[in-house]
Amino acid sequence: MTDPLLKLSHLNKSFGALKATDDVSLTLMPGEIHALIGPNGAGKSTLIKQIAGGLRSDSGTVEFAGRDVTALGTVPRARAGLGRTFQISSLAMEYTVLQNTVLGALGHDGGVMRFFRPVMKDRRLVDRGMAALERVGLTDQAAKRTADLSHGQRRLLEVAVALTLEPKVFLMDEPMAGLGASGSKRLTGFLDALRVQAPILLVEHDMDAVFALADRISVLVYGRVIATGTADEIKRDPTVREAYLGA
Ligand code: ADP
Ligand code: MG
Repeated sequence: MTDPLLKLSHLNKSFGALKATDDVSLTLMPGEIHALIGPNGAGKSTLIKQIAGGLRSDSGTVEFAGRDVTALGTVPRARAGLGRTFQISSLAMEYTVLQNTVLGALGHDGGVMRFFRPVMKDRRLVDRGMAALERVGLTDQAAKRTADLSHGQRRLLEVAVALTLEPKVFLMDEPMAGLGASGSKRLTGFLDALRVQAPILLVEHDMDAVFALADRISVLVYGRVIATGTADEIKRDPTVREAYLGA
């Protein structure tokens, strides 16, 4: 048996009396796209933040590549290879496309602008930023202000920013949100190729994308995983149909 790259064991997070995630255990295997679906408020984004390190879990563990990273913050987790994109954009809109990827290569988000000028002279970081733009097909947009990109291009740029740290695992929170049909299709093709480099834990509402991409699907309802299985298994599962698919 292959070892999972990511292993969540009994993760919990409450906000006051609300249990946002409730005893969540799941794994992500090499090469796999594991989709996480569930109604609004089910705890999907909370779980992604617990894995990325932005939210401290009340209990439970996150093991990444065989190492317990539960006590680490976001920056060391990202540097160790946990790549992530966010439901809410974290791009610096006033900076160029290339500058955003260079910031990404530093392993930081928006808060380090004062280091900016010297960083843009760092050939190695700039090369890494350009290479990531090439991967997602944004090379010709490198000098553009990020605010001037289309929504779909921004989504691709978020993936490029995450790619700069050469992640071993990807956490993606609704990457298809707001993309039109053609944008979703392009991103779907891209994610399908990306999984070879890094398996993806994919939170997504677009069920066409989920059914096209996911090797396994876990269904989260009120913070609990109520089922995990292949697309066919999930579609047939009576608990899922009742609780989520509404049939
Ligand atoms: P999803 O991403 O599945 O829509 P979330 O993880 O965003 O769900 O939210 C799960 C539940 O936790 C919701 O009821 C939400 O209102 C609540 N919640 C999320 N973040 C916070 C927070 N920082 N403080 C209080 N409640 C929160
Ligand atoms: Mg969410």
